[in-house]
Amino acid sequence: MRLILFLIFFISLQASYVENFRYKNGETYLMFLKRLGLPQKELYYNLDKDDQRLTEDIRSGVNYQILFGKDKSIQQILIPVTDELQIHIYKKNGRYGFETIPVIYSKKTKAFVLSLNNSPYYDIIKTTNSKKIATIFVQAYKNSLNFKTDLRKGDKLAMIYEQKYRLSKPFSMPELKASVIELGRKKHFVYLNDDGRYYNEQAKQVEGFLLSRPIPNARITSRFTLRRWHPILHKYRAHLGVDFGARRGTPIRAAGSGRVIYAAYSRGYGNVVKIRHTDGYVTLYAHMKKFKRGIRRGKHVKKGQVIGYVGSTGLSTGPHLHFGLYKNGRAINPLRVVQVATIKLKGRAKKAFLKLKKNYDESLMLHLKNNTEFKKDFTYDRTCYVYRKKDRDKPDNTAY
Ligand SMILES: [Zn+2]
Repeated sequence: MRLILFLIFFISLQASYVENFRYKNGETYLMFLKRLGLPQKELYYNLDKDDQRLTEDIRSGVNYQILFGKDKSIQQILIPVTDELQIHIYKKNGRYGFETIPVIYSKKTKAFVLSLNNSPYYDIIKTTNSKKIATIFVQAYKNSLNFKTDLRKGDKLAMIYEQKYRLSKPFSMPELKASVIELGRKKHFVYLNDDGRYYNEQAKQVEGFLLSRPIPNARITSRFTLRRWHPILHKYRAHLGVDFGARRGTPIRAAGSGRVIYAAYSRGYGNVVKIRHTDGYVTLYAHMKKFKRGIRRGKHVKKGQVIGYVGSTGLSTGPHLHFGLYKNGRAINPLRVVQVATIKLKGRAKKAFLKLKKNYDESLMLHLKNNTEFKKDFTYDRTCYVYRKKDRDKPDNTAY
């Protein structure tokens, strides 16, 4: 079914064509509809709260596609919101409709080795032409190594990472799986474990960024999901955060130290605060009754500092805190990062990790030995479409 949807999107009427665009920085979804001359009523105001809120999570810079009909009118739009879920706007019987459908993507594991001349960040960009690949590498080592003092020219690094592809283009952040860097000929390893965290060769967690709960002891009323099928509504849903149930007026604390980058009202999230932390993390606190005095854009806050109070502003069904966590712009599960101390694996968890480590070590050593070169992705500038005669009689090119 998904595959058919995907295919039909491209197999369109003769002279229909698909074009790629990047979502404009600072443009809200309502502005986006207005600019394209699309009806805000059908495509926003008539939607339920969850779908409306989802539109606030469209990331600026994300690639989206428009299928134009032969009269140049908009037939379909696909906008990915999370790695798993995308908004599908379509024209059917002359009217526009909105739905959320799964993102179809493929994954590829890639690897390369390079000799260091300058700094890992600089050298990776020079080799791969990708800031994203450089970022995931540097973030993994940031808290345990000092590249500035310990690096010797000719030291090598090897990395294995996974890249998603959507419509033949790299999609979302690559994910580092395992890597090794030599510093003064001594090797330092990092591995992504099955629990979603990074560990070094001693099975000790390497990430330094730890969050605390914004409301200590609050009960979780809704968990994080990038995509979930709602069996009653017969719709796909996403919940890009964790909901904590708490009484109206309960103080909300900054989950980590950082700088407030947003403290204002938005239609979906109500009174919302966003804090930028180190290592590409941003936390979001939504539906607040009010902000704590003095909390505004640009202000530095300490971990545990009160920033506002629980409320039910925006598209909310009752008093609660919606707590979101983003890494490099991508929503991730906050409960994976909220903890009190770094972990050292023990017992069965350690045994499982060592097995995974052994496999990665073998690959990394092989890549080092072979000096595996970085291979560029082949991407298309324009997406092709195919003409199929039997589609010709379908109204409006819709996928149904
Ligand atoms: Zn929520």
